[in-house]
Amino acid sequence: MTGSPVSRIPRIGYGWDSHEFKLGIPLKIGGVAIPHHSGLAGHSDGDVLLHALTDALLGAVAGGDIGTYFPPSDPQWKGADSVLFVREALQLVDKAGYQVGNVDSTLILAAPRIGPHAAAIQQRVAELLGIEPARVGIKAKTPEGMGTDNAAIAHVAVLLCEINWP
Ligand SMILES: [Zn+2]
Repeated sequence: MTGSPVSRIPRIGYGWDSHEFKLGIPLKIGGVAIPHHSGLAGHSDGDVLLHALTDALLGAVAGGDIGTYFPPSDPQWKGADSVLFVREALQLVDKAGYQVGNVDSTLILAAPRIGPHAAAIQQRVAELLGIEPARVGIKAKTPEGMGTDNAAIAHVAVLLCEINWP
C-alpha cells in the first residue's frame, strides 16, 4: 500500500445554499426541471441543490467555495447550467486523488412537494457524480414556520474516498 496513513483517511465535505423563489422562471433542482409557477432566482440557473453539492465537493478537498470559481458578479454565469459547477468541482476532487463515496442531502422548502421528483433527482445527481443512485440520499422537508416559505434551502454532505482505496 502506498501513501502515508494520513493521506488514506477519507474526507467529508459539507455545503449549504439558498435561493428565493421568483414567479414565472423555470425551476431546476438537482439538475431536474420541476413544473412549478416559480423558479429559483439568483446565481446561474438557481439550482440550490447543485450549488450546495458543488460547495460540499470543494470543501472536502479544501478547495474554496463556488464563488471562488464562479463569481455571481461574472455575467458569463447568468442563467448557466449548474451542472458545469459540479463537473468542475469533480475535476478538482479527481486531481486531489479522491472519488465520491456517497452523498446525502436535505432540501427545505414549502412548495412544490419534492416527493414525486425525488427519484428523478437522485438518478440525475448519481449520474452527474458517476455513482449508483443507492449512494445518493435525497431528503426534503417543509420549513415549519421558519419564515423561509418563499425560499429553497439545500444542505449536502459528501464522503470522498481515495482513488483505488484500499
Ligand atoms: Zn446558489
